[in-house]
Amino acid sequence: MRIIAEALQKVHERIRAAAMAAGRAPEGIHLLAVSKTKPAAMLRAAYAAGQRAFGENYLQDALPKMDALADLDIEWHYIGRIQSNKTRDIATRFSWVHSLDNAKHARRLSAQRPTGLPPLNCCIQVNLSAEASKGGTSPDDLSALAHEVAPLPGLALRGLMTMPDPGSSRETQLAVFRQLADLQAELNAGGLALDTLSMGMSGDLELAIAAGSNMVRVGTDIFGARE
Ligand SMILES: *Cc1c(COP(=O)(O)O)cnc(C)c1O
Repeated sequence: MRIIAEALQKVHERIRAAAMAAGRAPEGIHLLAVSKTKPAAMLRAAYAAGQRAFGENYLQDALPKMDALADLDIEWHYIGRIQSNKTRDIATRFSWVHSLDNAKHARRLSAQRPTGLPPLNCCIQVNLSAEASKGGTSPDDLSALAHEVAPLPGLALRGLMTMPDPGSSRETQLAVFRQLADLQAELNAGGLALDTLSMGMSGDLELAIAAGSNMVRVGTDIFGARE
């Protein structure tokens, strides 16, 4: 699947160009390949091209792929909505969660994280576009939640994640990314040590990098459009 290798290469070039434009080091920006709904063979092709971190949204789709790719040294990231009855699978099978948005899920994930594994890396998802349909904690609740999550022994609070309304203007999207970066800076000034800003997708990764993203989550521009 040469086409996936070429698509990955193009995304890396975009990341590099955006980093240079922002006066940032391209190596500091991680690429998460979002492989939801895509078959295991496509992930294997991306892996062969050097990709190691993959993001999945749906457990029933992800778990069989994870089994099929167990021979590879993949770092799995859960980026979908969390349901209470699914936290055990997330806690046992993934290295990262980007979509944490409440303390109850945090406590469950921490308690269910197997003791033989390192703490589950977490980003708190923040809803900055006030879309009721979307996940994420409100900025007003963020500080309390972050201070509740940070001490949990099974979790390592690493940062924040957001998704701007895809229908909003470039200016609004950039403002949302900057707001997330500001929220992270405030939390760090308040004693936390967050090092990950998970923001930017196929359509807006340049804006996210301009605002400080160091983990972009790209699906369509690597694997093609989804059904
Ligand atoms: C699907 C998805 C992405 C990737 O979006 P693309 O536009 O396909 O790059 C990133 N983050 C989350 C949370 C997603 O659900």
